[in-house]
Amino acid sequence: MFDVEKIRKDFPILEETVYGKPLVYLDNGATSQRPRQVVEKMNEYYFRYNANVHRGVHYLSNRCTDANEEARETVRQFIGAASEREVIFTRGTTESINLVAYSFGEAFIGAGDEIVVTEMEHHANIVPWQMLCKRKGAVLKVIPFHDNGELATEQLDELLTERVKLVGVAYVSNVLGTVNPVRDIIRRAHAVGAKVLVDGAQAVQHLPIDVQELDCDFFVFSGHKLYGPTGVGVLYGKEALLEQMPPWQGGGEMIKTVRFEKTTYNELPFKFEAGTPDFIGVVGLGEAIRYVDSIGLENIAAYEHDLLHYAMERMREVPGMRFFGEAGDKSSVISFALGDIHHSDTGVLLDKLGIAVRTGQLCAEPTMQHYGVTGMVRASLGMYNTRNEIDALHDGLMKVTEMFGIR
Ligand code: PLP
Repeated sequence: MFDVEKIRKDFPILEETVYGKPLVYLDNGATSQRPRQVVEKMNEYYFRYNANVHRGVHYLSNRCTDANEEARETVRQFIGAASEREVIFTRGTTESINLVAYSFGEAFIGAGDEIVVTEMEHHANIVPWQMLCKRKGAVLKVIPFHDNGELATEQLDELLTERVKLVGVAYVSNVLGTVNPVRDIIRRAHAVGAKVLVDGAQAVQHLPIDVQELDCDFFVFSGHKLYGPTGVGVLYGKEALLEQMPPWQGGGEMIKTVRFEKTTYNELPFKFEAGTPDFIGVVGLGEAIRYVDSIGLENIAAYEHDLLHYAMERMREVPGMRFFGEAGDKSSVISFALGDIHHSDTGVLLDKLGIAVRTGQLCAEPTMQHYGVTGMVRASLGMYNTRNEIDALHDGLMKVTEMFGIR
């Protein structure tokens, strides 16, 4: 059984007050909170076992190395990868995408090739591809979305030609909450010989993932949105593809032998892990996944689905409410405007009531442009949020509209 009160006890920050009001944390899309188990595991490693990994012969180094490789196996199982060689630790989603844009780009992208992304991508899944296109003389194409937040997949046949080498798509949009039809996109991209990178930054904490079943070529996510630490994330890539890609950064760890005449590279996954990794962060990520697994993503998804619908119903009662993103398949993210109240004003007023939401362009300027707005307010849910908190948001929004005379 999913017991939200029990879960909340694992997150001490949820007992905090701000300005004397109970904290209502609805900015989980930006970063989630970490449970006690994750922080305690990291403390244990800092206090008792801290030593650099993959280098030492001594006890502490071996212990830390083993914990890191166990975490890799935990990630492998969590996303259903075929091999640990396919799980590369990075600093986060952004770094994972940059790694692919550089390395896949070096191996496979030439002048006139095309890369396709969607109009609703986070900047992290736009800018690295623009930089690659500039380097290689390739062309970036865009799959637009409809006003309800669903991708215009009817345009895929036209966009997906043999010139397309890679498609980058968010599994879940960080602004619209849309759960994109990635299986269909992957199948159709593969039919023209293109590879697909799925940005799972807003998906892994809400939906069970099986990269083999999805058949994506790359899958990326960050630890800090998955109840884990900052500074650590994952790049999954199909082994055969990663083998054909050159290293991205050079340094320790990623080499086999170094001579001034010629250097040879380490095997996967280490070929892509230059330098000292955030090895305590990796241990923390493993613990976060264990925590999520102990509750079960199926249970989390069902609970959050119910909460999302409750939230949208309650928010619909607020005068002047305009939702951005009402796709049939939607997850945990509610972006909105209230009449013509500036998004920052709404955010600041809610803050004074102890309610943390995100405001602004949400790292997705093209999505803002789509709707002709300078920014939005975003409430994003986590597994520990409750109906009471949604009621507090509702009451807060009613106060904001009253203050601005919207009825
Ligand atoms: N992609 C999506 C869909 C996101 O929501 C985010 C973060 O908000 C990112 C990429 C970038 O993640 P990070 O800043 O952890 O690298």
